[in-house]
Amino acid sequence: MTKKKRLLSGMQPSGALHLGNYLGALKQWVERMDIYDCYYCVVDYHAITIPYDTEQMKTRIFDATVDYLAGGLDPEKCVIFVQSDVPEHMELAWIFNAVTPLGQLMRMTQFKQKAQHAAAKVLGDSNASGNEDDDVQSDLSDAFDTDTTGDDGLKVPLSGIGKINSGLLNYPVLQAADILIYKAEVVPVGEDQVQHIELTRDIARRFNNRFNDVFPLCEAMLSEAPRVMGLDGVNKMSKSLGNHIPLNLGRKQLTKLVTKQAVSDSRRVTLEDPGVPEECNVYAYHKLFSTEEEQQWAHDGCTQASIGCFHCKKAVAKNINDLLDPIRERREEILKSPDTVNDILAEGAKKARAVAQETLEQTREALGFLGKPR
Ligand code: SF4
Repeated sequence: MTKKKRLLSGMQPSGALHLGNYLGALKQWVERMDIYDCYYCVVDYHAITIPYDTEQMKTRIFDATVDYLAGGLDPEKCVIFVQSDVPEHMELAWIFNAVTPLGQLMRMTQFKQKAQHAAAKVLGDSNASGNEDDDVQSDLSDAFDTDTTGDDGLKVPLSGIGKINSGLLNYPVLQAADILIYKAEVVPVGEDQVQHIELTRDIARRFNNRFNDVFPLCEAMLSEAPRVMGLDGVNKMSKSLGNHIPLNLGRKQLTKLVTKQAVSDSRRVTLEDPGVPEECNVYAYHKLFSTEEEQQWAHDGCTQASIGCFHCKKAVAKNINDLLDPIRERREEILKSPDTVNDILAEGAKKARAVAQETLEQTREALGFLGKPR
C-alpha cells in the first residue's frame, strides 16, 4: 500500500465558524481525511499578533474545535490539535528566522497589506490625538519605501512601521514551521497564500543546503472551493466584517438573518421592478445551495418581477438550513459531553508532538546541537 502524503492545514480560533469557513475549508478538510495523512490545527499563536480579549481565547479555541468536529472531522481519521499545545512549532520558527532574509519577509503581499492597514491606523490615531512623534508623518502617501515594492505594486509604509509588531512580519516564518515540523507535503491554500508556501519551500531549501537534508519541499494545493461572499454582497464572508452566517445559528435565526440582512439587487425598488440576478448576491447563494430548478425559479422570478426578494431569500435560507442541519445535530451531541472535546485535543497534541519532536531532534542535530536537550 502506498503511504499517504501528509497534509497540514489550520484556522485561527475566531470562535464558532461561519458558512464561508465551512465551504471554503472545513468541507474540503473532511473530504481529504481518507486521501491524505491529515493534521488539522487551531493556530492560536497566529491569533495573538492583533489585540484580543485573553478571557475569550479558551472559549474561541473550544468553539472552533467543536465546529471542526460538528463539520465532520473524525479524530480517528486525522490529527486535530491546538498549535500552542505543540511548543516545538515555536523553536523551529526561531531556527527558520536564522535562514530567512528580512527583505523576503518584507516583500510578502499580506505583510504589506497588514502594514499599510496598521500604519494608516497609527497615523489616524496620532492625527486624532495631535501626536507629533517623529515616527509618524501626517501624509501616508509620503511614507512608503519604494525598495520593497513587488509585483503586487504595494509598498511598505515607513511611517508608523516602528509601531507595527514584528509578529506581523514573521507570521509566514511561523507558518513555515507549522508545516515543516510535520514534514507536510501538501498544504491546501487560497491564491493569497501561495506566496507563503513559496517562502516555506525557500526556507526548507536554504536550511537543507546550509545544514542537512531535513525538510521536504511542500506543494500548495490550490483550493477549488467557491469564494463565499458575505451578506453585504461586497466582501468575502468574514466574522470581523460582521457579514457572516454563523454555523451555530438555529433555523429561525438563520432565516431571519438572511431575509433581513442579505443585500439584493438595488434595481428591485418595488415588487414590479425586475432585477438582474447575476448581479445579486442572493442569487449567488442560490447557485451554491439550491437545485437547478430552484435557481431557474429565482432567475425567472427576478427578471420577470414575479417573486419578491423576501421569498427569494427565504427559499435560499431554507436550503442553507437543510445543509446545516446535520452539523447542528452533531454539535448538539458533542456539547452533551464537552470534556470529550478536550480529550480529543489532548490526544491530538500527543500524536502531533511525537512527530514534531522527532523533526526537531533531526533539526537540532543538523545545527550541531544535541538532538535531545540535556
Ligand atoms: S429576486 Fe432574488 S435574485 Fe432577484 S434581486 Fe431579489 S433576492 Fe436577488
